[in-house]
Amino acid sequence: MSDEVKVGAYICKGCDLGNRLNTDQLEMIATREGRVTTAKSHDFLCGAKGVKMIQDDLESGEANRLVIAACSRRAKTDAFTFSGVATSRVNLREGVIWIRPETDEAQETTQEMAEDYVRMGCAEIKFMAAPKPSEEQGTNRHVMVVGGGITGMTAALEASRAGYQVSLVEKTDALGGTTGQLYRRVPTRAPYADPEDTGVDALIKMLEDDDKVTLYLNSVLSHTDGAPGRFDIDITSGDGSKAKSQKISCGSIIQASGMTPYDANQLTEFSYSDSANLITQLEMEALARAADGGPIKRPSDGKEVKHVVFIQCAGQRSDKEGQLSYCSGHCCNTSIKQAMYCKDGAGDNAIDVQTTILFTDLRTPGAGGEDFYRSGQDKDVTFRKAIVSEVSKDGKVSFNDLILDEDDSIDADLVVLATGMIPNSGRNNEREDELAAQKTQLEAEHKEAEHKEVPQAMLDEIAIPVESILNLAYRQGSDLPQLISGFNDSHFICFPYETRRTGIYAAGPTRRPMDTQQAQEDATGATMKAIQAIENAGKGMAAHPRSGDLSYPSFRMEGCTQCKRCMMECPFGAIGFDDKGYPEYNEARCRRCGTCMGACPVRVISFENYSIDSVGQQIKAVDIPDEFDEKPRLLVLACENDAYPALDMAAQNRFEYSAFVRVIPVRCLGSVNTIWITDALNSGYDGVVMMGCKKGDDYQCHFVKGSEMAHERMSKIADTLQTLNLEEERVAVHEVAITDIQRVPQLIDDMADTIERIGMSPFKF
Ligand code: SF4
Ligand code: SF4
Repeated sequence: MSDEVKVGAYICKGCDLGNRLNTDQLEMIATREGRVTTAKSHDFLCGAKGVKMIQDDLESGEANRLVIAACSRRAKTDAFTFSGVATSRVNLREGVIWIRPETDEAQETTQEMAEDYVRMGCAEIKFMAAPKPSEEQGTNRHVMVVGGGITGMTAALEASRAGYQVSLVEKTDALGGTTGQLYRRVPTRAPYADPEDTGVDALIKMLEDDDKVTLYLNSVLSHTDGAPGRFDIDITSGDGSKAKSQKISCGSIIQASGMTPYDANQLTEFSYSDSANLITQLEMEALARAADGGPIKRPSDGKEVKHVVFIQCAGQRSDKEGQLSYCSGHCCNTSIKQAMYCKDGAGDNAIDVQTTILFTDLRTPGAGGEDFYRSGQDKDVTFRKAIVSEVSKDGKVSFNDLILDEDDSIDADLVVLATGMIPNSGRNNEREDELAAQKTQLEAEHKEAEHKEVPQAMLDEIAIPVESILNLAYRQGSDLPQLISGFNDSHFICFPYETRRTGIYAAGPTRRPMDTQQAQEDATGATMKAIQAIENAGKGMAAHPRSGDLSYPSFRMEGCTQCKRCMMECPFGAIGFDDKGYPEYNEARCRRCGTCMGACPVRVISFENYSIDSVGQQIKAVDIPDEFDEKPRLLVLACENDAYPALDMAAQNRFEYSAFVRVIPVRCLGSVNTIWITDALNSGYDGVVMMGCKKGDDYQCHFVKGSEMAHERMSKIADTLQTLNLEEERVAVHEVAITDIQRVPQLIDDMADTIERIGMSPFKF
């Protein structure tokens, strides 16, 4: 095939485009201004004949790159995907005719909009090439599972059933984890009436009999390096001088490190440490195991219990210092189950055993949660909506009944606290960095003020002695990043198992609070992702969210100033540095978000099909009317994950917005380089609107930090605007959700109003 670039532009007349737009004029613009090799219209471009017309031109060599001016790039992807051919999609349907009224007055500006989008598509395609795999990848169909609780065991079994080799590493000397300590579990099958077997023994047996699974007990990951498809891991087994180490290679990792129960000693309003008959839910499981279906006996004197009180949310959903702000998700069901242990264990004497559950909000999630609650009622478990104020040493539980609005108390012979779960998520490297900075500051302050060392007690207070779980050899830290409550990072709506370390997935209570059934479902989901990561890595494709994407950033090293911004801003630890300070890119860890491209001040990072030029030239291709035309031009850079779909959906609902806007989808707001903004303003645009996903602790950004980075960069653009003598209002950054279909047109129109108020750009000429 010749290297000559031959662009074919194909304009669709279907979906009313032919009636609403002058498509002959669009063809002419593509040919004369866009300088395409061939430009054609078709009545129904996505139909078999339309697609064949394009295919024939590709085969005959008349075109080798495509501009398809039809519907949104999110529509008709099957029809308009031509393998190995760079294609620019021009959105005339959702982007133009569906958001403009069908009136004579609107016709002129609607046509101008369409013409600009054709110009933009023709400009973009000249800077796009079809991406090819980098050939740096490897395939290793071996999954590493860290943690031998119910989550880890389920993940291991699922991976093995799918045909993958598995190493399961457990730091204790037995499989089972917390679920292994339970007597029974909350039912997972209809009729959801009685506690059921935990299934742990059966799982252990299956794993022991599975020749694809290798078990490592008393073992930890002492070193983890590499990337999806080629992780190199040191497993250390045993302790001290008897410890042995061995190297394992694997393609992906599932962290299923489980949880630790909250320390009930911290709940000073209860007498946990002073009374043997005040216990946690996990201690109640031990009593039930000892009873093995018989009467539950209280720890202090072994007498059969007569009145057991369960206190929900003990130190949970609390804003008190040191307590848990979140709900652990399983404890209400667990208390119902444990009340049943007491009732069922008493046999014919069940009527003589009282069980009272004191709750503020009873939460019974899961398919059979409501049925299980009803079953508890049928077994005469008492539920009282109440706030507990105190538990005395001798078991007197004082509370305020929230229904009767009166104080009351129960003399219980056993009290069970529903304390929460704390994720075993490893070291919090970001928090450690903050604490290290605090420590340095404290030391400096003491030195200056008193010329003496900081007392050790003060230093101890800011140390977090947590062991690393993965021991990652990443510049960005030894463990998976964590969310505010310590759970391993994930995009909880769209990508629940994914973490900020590509190819490493979190499952079970290390990811969010959950019960055993949810943990097993989680394990299955994470295993699917771990398999996808292995397979995609083998083909040089992104794992997610741009699953299947072959493009990857390349670095023009001769222009690099070794500033390290790309390394610092890459949310996924995909960039390291060599001895000379130049970026060292790790393709398999890369999610292809473009945040590095947005960060680079000298603009030396680009993708084959997405670059400073492919967007910059679109910006410049727009026809900027002079100031006397009273036609402002607004640039919208819309994140393709949420904002662009929201705009498409607004169009499907025929919500109108300004005809003066020109929208360019971007991979992530993090990929927006400030040069695009300054170029746009310098070339006469009147305003720029950026739309990205929610940032912060409860972020929705599909690339975790991209949106946050963009906000930070844009907060610094005020200086540039001042230098250009432009008003700050000309640039706006908005957080947009995919459901904001009424809000996005409003945000655009708001900017149009702002421009009307402050006037046209002084750069128009
Ligand atoms: S910032 Fe995004 S595109 Fe750049 S290296 Fe990191 S993951 Fe890849
Ligand atoms: S951001 Fe750009 S200039 Fe800075 S180190 Fe990375 S590639 Fe080099």
